[in-house]
Amino acid sequence: MSLLHDIDAVRPATLAEALELLAKEGAALRPMAGCTDVLVEAHFGKPMAARFLDLTGLRAELGGLAFDDEGLHLGALCTYAQALRDPRVQREAPALWHAASVVGATQIQARGTFAGNVENASPAADAAPVLMALDAQVELVSTAGLRRVPLCEYYTGYRQTVRHADELIAALVVPRASLGRPGQWYRKVGTRAYQAITKVGLAAHLTWQHGVVAEPRIVAVAMAATLKRCPHLEAAVRGRRLADLDDAALRQAQALDLQPIDDVRSTAAYRAEVFARLLRQALQATAR
Ligand SMILES: Cc1cc2nc3c(=O)[nH]c(=O)nc-3n(C[C@H](O)[C@H](O)[C@H](O)COP(=O)(O)OP(=O)(O)OC[C@H]3O[C@@H](n4cnc5c(N)ncnc54)[C@H](O)[C@@H]3O)c2cc1C
Repeated sequence: MSLLHDIDAVRPATLAEALELLAKEGAALRPMAGCTDVLVEAHFGKPMAARFLDLTGLRAELGGLAFDDEGLHLGALCTYAQALRDPRVQREAPALWHAASVVGATQIQARGTFAGNVENASPAADAAPVLMALDAQVELVSTAGLRRVPLCEYYTGYRQTVRHADELIAALVVPRASLGRPGQWYRKVGTRAYQAITKVGLAAHLTWQHGVVAEPRIVAVAMAATLKRCPHLEAAVRGRRLADLDDAALRQAQALDLQPIDDVRSTAAYRAEVFARLLRQALQATAR
């Protein structure tokens, strides 16, 4: 098992320097931000990277949280604590604020970043599913330039993302169209109310118009190998009134989108049952 003193890390002073290093060393150089995921891996005996790219010196370039005409920009080093201190995040992206508030405890919130949560690619993550439901984009940067990928298209398999080895996440961008709109919802279910890893969760942005669901985004947590948008469920609720949403039809659609598994945290049957109830709660809580 690797011990902390074994870690070889390089600490660039600028983003340009970081990208040059990544361009040269690729996957042999692993980015580290808050390290709340990276260093935990050592305790589980996972092989550590040959070398780490310590991003913490890049706060001036990657640390920001800003609102502009385009939306909300969460810089790669933006922590949960930063977002939790921002009343505008709480007002305009309440589900994201709530997700940040249920990540670990204060110490983890002080160090952990949204970008680290996205790139760690856990199917049980808290912030990433809400960002998906808010239609966020991942801004990737390399010496070749910038590209943006919708977070909904970011995960390609268990713990796999479309990020190339020479790219860094520069920011996550929540579009203005998602901000300040009602219908944002997130709930995780774990073994206890706080400091629990999610057994099953649901993030949604359900836009209602004239009593029907006009634009649904539903994201399942810990129900598949990746965080997952649910196209069948979205189709099943779109254009429907709350009173017309039949549980049997919703469960049928759910079974097409999600085939959860038994694992150390829960069973497939529990996950399927609780997810169906979470969806009903989300619909009831947001209906207007
Ligand atoms: C005690 C404890 C409790 C936790 N509780 C929760 C919880 O309740 N909910 C939850 O979702 N998570 C939880 N976590 C996991 C973790 O805190 C979060 O996923 C956190 O957001 C990770 O951010 P970080 O900055 O620490 O990432 P790091 O550990 O620094 O990195 C995580 C991954 O992202 C990559 N990475 C980081 N930044 C970049 C970048 N800019 N570009 C490209 N790749 C990058 C790293 O190479 C690594 O693969 C917990 C962790 C601990 C130790």
